Amino acid sequence: MTALVVSDIHLDAARPETAARFEEFLATEASGARALYVLGDLFEAWVGDDDPDPHRRAAARALGALSARGTALYFMHGNRDFLLGERFCEMTGGKLLVDPTLVERHGRRVLLTHGDALCTDDKPYQRLRALVRDPSWQRQFLKLRLGARELLARDARAGSQAHTATQQRMLMDVNDDAVADLFRRAGIETIVHGHTHRPGVYRHEVDGRLRTRIVTGDWYAQGSVLRWDADGLRLETLSR
Ligand code: MN
Repeated sequence: MTALVVSDIHLDAARPETAARFEEFLATEASGARALYVLGDLFEAWVGDDDPDPHRRAAARALGALSARGTALYFMHGNRDFLLGERFCEMTGGKLLVDPTLVERHGRRVLLTHGDALCTDDKPYQRLRALVRDPSWQRQFLKLRLGARELLARDARAGSQAHTATQQRMLMDVNDDAVADLFRRAGIETIVHGHTHRPGVYRHEVDGRLRTRIVTGDWYAQGSVLRWDADGLRLETLSR
């Protein structure tokens, strides 16, 4: 049975065509799969599970319908939706995975991660990441009124876009040493992640062995899906 891996859908009211593409994917391809792994940034922003926003609710319902049809759903936090919580899991029938998580299927062990932790050259981002992933910071944030959370999230996105625009492209990609270190620590041959929006299959030589890093792409202009079955792992583009 097939497992599918996606990331970086960045669902947002401003991009209805992406939402339509993703919902169609859930209703068709994903419906036949044993499992669907969403490796972060499913949403462009997520300010708390109590958010009544109709677009986000509609996506949660579509995911809930998929899991009700028998596809196991797994979520990992991205840098945009790290506040996805237990209530979201109840709404969708999904399960949150810690980052990174080792998964074994079809005789193959693969380490799944969002990927932002590997971008260690971007020091300001790593400092921000440490702050917002801190449970006490998250508790304080979630105590704010929804409107205040939305405003802060909008400011953070604007700041992130300004930061991204001024950083060298190289600094925004994964750091090779961080990648090598993760291969070594996990003792595996294959890492799958998203976040960088640079889909592809990359080879890394670590301790004399060639290892594979597969990067799933964003869903801005098309879909990007990693198919994992008895034949192995294949990165595919959904053109619709
Ligand atoms: Mn990301």
